[in-house]
Amino acid sequence: MRPYVVAGNWKMNTTPGHARALAEAIGKSFPGPDTVGDGVQVVVCPPYPMLAEVLEATAGSRVGVGAQNMHTEEFGAYTGEVSAPMLNALGCTHVILGHSERRQYFAEGDELINAKAKLAFAHAITPIVCVGEMLAHRETGATEDVIEKQVRDCLEGLDALQLRGMVLAYEPVWAIGTGKTATPEQAQEVHVFIRKLVASLFDGEAADALVIQYGGSVKPDNARELFAQPDIDGGLIGGASLDADSFLAIVRAAQELATT
Ligand code: PEP
Repeated sequence: MRPYVVAGNWKMNTTPGHARALAEAIGKSFPGPDTVGDGVQVVVCPPYPMLAEVLEATAGSRVGVGAQNMHTEEFGAYTGEVSAPMLNALGCTHVILGHSERRQYFAEGDELINAKAKLAFAHAITPIVCVGEMLAHRETGATEDVIEKQVRDCLEGLDALQLRGMVLAYEPVWAIGTGKTATPEQAQEVHVFIRKLVASLFDGEAADALVIQYGGSVKPDNARELFAQPDIDGGLIGGASLDADSFLAIVRAAQELATT
């Protein structure tokens, strides 16, 4: 049985005060050791300067803390960059890799994302690898081709065991921050496509175990319907993760489904 993973991507938002208050409110709601007892894993991904603050504010809770990116090298002359060993030393559990905003504004490609995923594993950090088509791809019927290339290239050289220790986030670019959500059926269709592809690239067991999140304007009022789809294993949440009540309502939708 796959757990739900609900992760908040705070992007380049929050002040230290807001980050602490948000993290405290979320941490308080999930006390206890880092288990997925209720079938839901909760993760928050603040900007780098807030990581220490958020780790402190969520200490003693079972909320994972992730970064939004990292470099492909472990250390060296890469001004402005942050590495996997640094994230690990801080206590980060997750890292988002290949978010569409990184692909779009910083020209990150699948090969680079693949190298980062391998490095995340080497440093005991769970990668959340993002894939997704642009609106033009969907409108021209190219969604599956685009997703297939991204999934193949991002997972290249990983082994079946690693698929159990990672998260894949399907995020149609046209649905991110736009208020347009993929319908549950549209999202489920792509999730099934990804799972079948992963089964053919690795094996059926690995594909069954892979957590595939949906991301793209998930809100408290649409989370349940999306998460109820058999192949949607939680969400990567942008805008709605900046408000504790909204984020917690989305997590609750996953908890209700996990326990029924
Ligand atoms: C995201 O940033 O990954 C995202 C899905 O954003 P939003 O929920 O705001 O669409």
